Amino acid sequence: LLEVLDLVKRFDDGTVGVENFSMAIAPGESVGLVGESGSGKSTTSRMICRLLDQTEGTINFNGQSISHIPARDFHRAPQRREIQIVFQDPNDSLNPRFNAFDCIAHPLIRLLGMRNGAALRQRVGECAHRVGLPANLLERFPHQLSGGQKARIGIARAIACRPKLLVLDEPTAALDVSVQAVVLQLLDRLRREDNLAFLFVSHDLNVVRMMCQRTIVLRNGAIVEEGESHQLFDSPKTSYTRELVDAVP
Ligand code: ATP
Ligand code: MG
Repeated sequence: LLEVLDLVKRFDDGTVGVENFSMAIAPGESVGLVGESGSGKSTTSRMICRLLDQTEGTINFNGQSISHIPARDFHRAPQRREIQIVFQDPNDSLNPRFNAFDCIAHPLIRLLGMRNGAALRQRVGECAHRVGLPANLLERFPHQLSGGQKARIGIARAIACRPKLLVLDEPTAALDVSVQAVVLQLLDRLRREDNLAFLFVSHDLNVVRMMCQRTIVLRNGAIVEEGESHQLFDSPKTSYTRELVDAVP
């Protein structure tokens, strides 16, 4: 589904964010991206979902290059609806002037060209139902909703266009521990039901181990180790991964 080859990001100030990053994700597969703060997780995921242009390298989606499409033009690309993003903090990603309905409807209108009407209302209702958001909350604005409810809206918006790949950058880091588990279970269920692929960014190794079949460890923008999650966490091959694993409570 996704193939990334020799991706490099050098920022204008000379900082190397990502170095020769290569990986692939199969349909329905969940791949974790872990590493310390500043290791390049967000930079990598932002290039893959085309929020950021790479300096070098190739990204193929469904066998077609998307890396030649500049980030600022990607909203017009046909692949845009198939690659969706769930951000860390729902407060950053939900427009405060959109109520929950409009927020979920937005990609349906923008990317699928749906018009306001019964079909749109039905699809928004379906998405809200799938993420466990009660229909009576659809009229509410972000400031009238709890963190967990906002997280559900972010997920409903992400699945609205029936994407093939979700890029999740610390999707539960802003949530209460009790809500975290519920949202993770929800994500895992949606992934299995829809055969969705995940690129799951987190610094929480326990979460990645639970959510991802395969894990990639980044350090200073480069891959130090990758493998099946249980194997990688139970018997790390590098001392760096060993240290990360040992630091987990
Ligand atoms: P965290 O876990 O804290 O979110 P991360 O692994 O997501 O960290 P990135 O945000 O990808 O890390 O950052 C990777 C590196 O690139 C860091 O050294 C960061 O300072 C640098 N960087 C990120 N954005 C820019 C930018 N716009 N200009 C210069 N350097 C940047
Ligand atoms: Mg980050």
